[in-house]
Amino acid sequence: MDLIRHWIDNQEYDALPERRGEVYNPATGLVRAEVALASVSEVDAGVASAADAFPGWRDTPVTRRAKIMFKFRDLVEAHMDDLAKLLTAEHGKTLDDARGEVTRGLEVIEFATGMPHLIKGDFSEQVSSGVDTYTIRQPLGVVAGITPFNFPAMVPMWMYPIAIAAGNAFVLKPSEKDPSVALLAAELFAEAGLPPGVLNVIHGDKVAVDRLLEHPDVKAISFVGSTPVAQYVYSTGTANGKRVQALAGAKNHMIVLPDADMELAADAAVSAAYGSAGERCMAISVVVAVGDAGDKLIPMIQERMEKLSIAPGDSPGAEMGPLITRDHRDKVAGYVDTGLEEGATLVADGRGFSPEGFEDGFWIGATLFDDVTPDMKIYQDEIFGPVLSVVRSDSFEDAIKVINDNPWGNGTAVFTNDGGAARKFQNEIEVGMVGVNLPIPVPLGFYSFGGWKASNFGDHDIYGPDGVSFYTRQKVVISRWPDPIHRGVDLGFPTNK
Ligand code: NAD
Repeated sequence: MDLIRHWIDNQEYDALPERRGEVYNPATGLVRAEVALASVSEVDAGVASAADAFPGWRDTPVTRRAKIMFKFRDLVEAHMDDLAKLLTAEHGKTLDDARGEVTRGLEVIEFATGMPHLIKGDFSEQVSSGVDTYTIRQPLGVVAGITPFNFPAMVPMWMYPIAIAAGNAFVLKPSEKDPSVALLAAELFAEAGLPPGVLNVIHGDKVAVDRLLEHPDVKAISFVGSTPVAQYVYSTGTANGKRVQALAGAKNHMIVLPDADMELAADAAVSAAYGSAGERCMAISVVVAVGDAGDKLIPMIQERMEKLSIAPGDSPGAEMGPLITRDHRDKVAGYVDTGLEEGATLVADGRGFSPEGFEDGFWIGATLFDDVTPDMKIYQDEIFGPVLSVVRSDSFEDAIKVINDNPWGNGTAVFTNDGGAARKFQNEIEVGMVGVNLPIPVPLGFYSFGGWKASNFGDHDIYGPDGVSFYTRQKVVISRWPDPIHRGVDLGFPTNK
């Protein structure tokens, strides 16, 4: 059985781990490898190596750091298929989707190649007689990233390219469920010329996370994962004096108004609800159908669902793969039971589905509920599977209120042909990322990504300009060089004379 080891100092960590976890191929249900689960001393080894590497990397000219980013960018592009295959083998998503994920990560690497420009400070000449003021942005030191299973390549790339290009050393703790792709990316970064210790990958679970949260040499934590863990990471990390950003779970709604292009809305609902088997933080899990929109939309959604090819992610034509683990599949199937008990109308039932020959995989088919109400558990919980709920609403105002009353606020969308309605929606909706006639509004690498409310804890969104701000500290310098005018002692507060 292969052992997936930690990556420290640009090489696999030799010592055998005290604890191991199992990594599955979700399509077959078989264990494909074991992964080291770090103890406190293994985390400490990763942090110590990063702390050693930091001073040299911080002092490496930003233009040289950028050159390594360019090389890394090219290597990721050249190895796109290797990364995607590894990702599919452990996560289960389709190869196309895996390539899409790596491409979105690549966009952040491309953004980070611009660090010489991004890290520039401000300069004001002559703010007082002979006095200039300027700001410089400096890296924090050793920073850590803790990432979820659902985007094992992209979410780490939301973090470390920017942190590293800005001059930090980075310790990544990827999801223990699909750790290999992050490791391959780290190997490519080493090949690009990244010095040893600047990016270490420590595998593990709560033990590793807790150590990173308390380690005195870790200056900042970027977390992406479920809401309860995000809350825990945010409160523990900040209590320990660290800068923390913690992006969390979601329940994303898409409002469909009666005047919308229903073909477009049906395509969007099916794509955004069932893509990656619903295991996306930006998946649409609730359609709020206003007026008679639901009566038109539901048969159109159903028709599209029936044609979906649900198969192992590496099989030709597959559109949706399995879920990540057996436990998670059972949990999602349990929500379908709950929805029925709560009185929702089950329009399409994915329980019991598996492709022929893959009966032991973690499968569930696309599932659709109608007549869901906000008091139901299937509405309130993040199911994180291919289960779409339709909530009926009498008016646009009520539909907006449903979304604003929901505790989460990651992404949302409105489908309409009325510009005024779209403008009202973008203005009044209490959600961080808004789509107009498109269902998954994930900004490109030169904007920042972040939800509101229980979808994001902390002051910073992730990647883009907020990423640069998160991974750097600003210093302001006020300077005066000796001039012939000596003003003598003055105990008054400095003012701009
Ligand atoms: P998770 O919270 O279970 O795990 C995330 C990370 O935290 C993993 O590295 C895991 O090892 C670690 N972890 C798990 N339990 C822990 C604990 N008790 N204490 C300390 N660390 C712990 O999340 P997941 O199941 O891997 O990912 C899915 C979740 O992530 C969903 O809720 C999804 O919405 C969310 N997500 C959010 C975003 C976003 O940008 N807002 C993006 C992707 C995923």
